[in-house]
Amino acid sequence: GSTPSLPSAVPSIIRKKLMGYVGFANLPNQVHRKSVRKGFQFTAMVVGESGLGKSTLINTLFNTTLYPPKEPLPPSAERPKTVSIESIGADIEENGVRLHLTVVDTPGFGDFVNNDESWKPILENIESRFDSYLEQENRVNRTKVVDNRVHACLYFIQATGHSLKEIDIEFMRRLHNKVNLIPVIAKADTMTDEEVAEFKERILSDIAHHNIHIFQAPTYDNEDEETIAEAEEIASKIPFAVVGSDKIVDTPDGRHVRGRAYPWGVVEVDNEEHCDFVKLRQMLIRTYMEELREYTNDVLYENWRTEKLLGMGVAQDSSVFKEINPAARMQEERILHEAKLAKMEAEMKMVFQQKVQEKESKLKQSEEELYARHKEMKDALEKQRADLEDKKRKIESGRPITPEKNTQTGRRKGFLRT
Ligand code: GDP
Repeated sequence: GSTPSLPSAVPSIIRKKLMGYVGFANLPNQVHRKSVRKGFQFTAMVVGESGLGKSTLINTLFNTTLYPPKEPLPPSAERPKTVSIESIGADIEENGVRLHLTVVDTPGFGDFVNNDESWKPILENIESRFDSYLEQENRVNRTKVVDNRVHACLYFIQATGHSLKEIDIEFMRRLHNKVNLIPVIAKADTMTDEEVAEFKERILSDIAHHNIHIFQAPTYDNEDEETIAEAEEIASKIPFAVVGSDKIVDTPDGRHVRGRAYPWGVVEVDNEEHCDFVKLRQMLIRTYMEELREYTNDVLYENWRTEKLLGMGVAQDSSVFKEINPAARMQEERILHEAKLAKMEAEMKMVFQQKVQEKESKLKQSEEELYARHKEMKDALEKQRADLEDKKRKIESGRPITPEKNTQTGRRKGFLRT
């Protein structure tokens, strides 16, 4: 759910003040090659049935009221029948680091009687963002490439305590190779610790059973023990059991914390004993934001692009890959190599075509200019000719402009001179 008044195509940009340390100021440490001053673009998508706490969690994550409090729809209100895509943008700044954050919401997902194709508009949206990036990459002038690709998708699983629902599996299966999936258990405060642990296990086994790939914090061989331990710690919490709240509440021992107050006590958002919010924030913002962007660009987008370009040109025969024998492997390598060449060729063709088009339109323009100038000159000459013709006619019609006198004068002058 979110702001129904916003048209999906025109995200509203809001300048936001943060209320506390969020963690993206750490981005420059995550990024080694890009300039910091340019700022960063990050797009997160939230998917899940309405009422699972998506807007609340986004507000909690970025510590700002990106989403205004929602009015529940009156029962009489006309409810939309399809999943829509809405995005909200905010420029936020932390310790001099600028982040242009876009949150893409998918209201309607899972809210209908028939949710069979709920994933479809979302997949289309993600791919159209790839398309727009590809189009920009192929432009001759590539100075202002805007990256609107979705870098992470928070998938909200309802805290049922059973296992994944059909719609959850279908969504993840369809989307896992297009976007970094980060599954979260919504409103984890409605379950006990044991229930959460068991639920997590069942979710993970469902995910494994369906060969669904979810985003994993990458570890490299050359990393120090601390980093590896941190990555493992984060990985061990997936799917993150989260609690969101934008309210400050008082704990029995007199602290003011972000949390939810219940008759039996307070659930603290930022307390790792209470939920995995802190680890999720670490995954999404403090430690792996740049990894999410890189994986989106280097793997998800790259695979999509290769497929698309291959689709435009050569069809790939995957049956050859099945057998593992040297001849098949060579064949496979050859095909891969050819595919790579084809891809390069297709890309070059695209760029070439674009350049030719630009040149052509420039030529056409100068041709038109030349033609206009030519016409101008022709017209001027024509006019001169007409004037002369006119004069000639006047002369011939006998109106004496006293040619004799003229000649006489000439003669006289000539006479005098000699
Ligand atoms: P959305 O439709 O998914 O965006 O859900 P909202 O963020 O609007 O939240 C729906 C309701 O759930 C609101 O009344 C929130 O206060 C409540 N809510 C949000 N997060 C949590 C949570 O972590 N735990 C509990 N118990 N309630 C929550």
